[in-house]
Amino acid sequence: MNKAKRRTVIAGNWKMNKTPSETTALINEMKPLVKDADCDVLLCVPFVDIAAATKAAEGSNIKIGAENVHFKESGAYTGEVSANMLKECNVEYVVIGHSERRQYFGETDQTVNLRTLAALNGGLKAIVCVGETLEQRELGYTETLLKYQTKMALTNVTAEQLKNVIVAYEPVWAIGTGVTATAEQADEGNGFVRAAIAEVYGKDVAETVTVQYGGSMNAKNADELLSKVNVDGGLIGGASLKAEDFSIIVKAASK
Ligand code: PEP
Repeated sequence: MNKAKRRTVIAGNWKMNKTPSETTALINEMKPLVKDADCDVLLCVPFVDIAAATKAAEGSNIKIGAENVHFKESGAYTGEVSANMLKECNVEYVVIGHSERRQYFGETDQTVNLRTLAALNGGLKAIVCVGETLEQRELGYTETLLKYQTKMALTNVTAEQLKNVIVAYEPVWAIGTGVTATAEQADEGNGFVRAAIAEVYGKDVAETVTVQYGGSMNAKNADELLSKVNVDGGLIGGASLKAEDFSIIVKAASK
């Protein structure tokens, strides 16, 4: 296992937080704090904040992502946004299949796959989220579920396209709850994701894919979580809304 083969990526997921003016202020506060990062730094923001975010981040090492993408290029899909729209707004990444989308907005493994393909075909990089509920963990289905979700999300994704995919292991019970997986649980979950990728694309390819952990990662626990061999970065919710906390996580990932 060689972690050096993979890019470490720290991505903020702002969820439904921050107006455009607040976006400008927060990114301006973050820029000097993360400028020396030795990892990729990325903020995934609400659609309406993208223009402010890309403008504020211009010339810095902060990349901008969106929080969802539709699987069609255009059409009668009220409220949705397509990959080419995001691309034209200078968006580089998009979060797909976040558990909040699965839980509250009817996202399924099939739609996660379609959105992933649309993002990749549209020239975006995809951060695909997978994760088990507490009930699934307690029933002993974590490995089965993570492998299934990973393979379903990546159906018809070519090995070449996989270079633009990050998978985020996010145990549902740890998201926004303040309950963090132990470093061992995070490492194990990420390992299951990598094993699923290896089963489809081979071990060598799987070794190159960035697998993040997400779920209440914060300034205090980031060091330990990121020290694990399978944890190639983090998808950060709450702590990405505070410049200093986010920068501490970025620094932990840069060691
Ligand atoms: C997330 O939004 O993906 C997330 C992990 O949230 P939090 O860090 O707040 O648990």
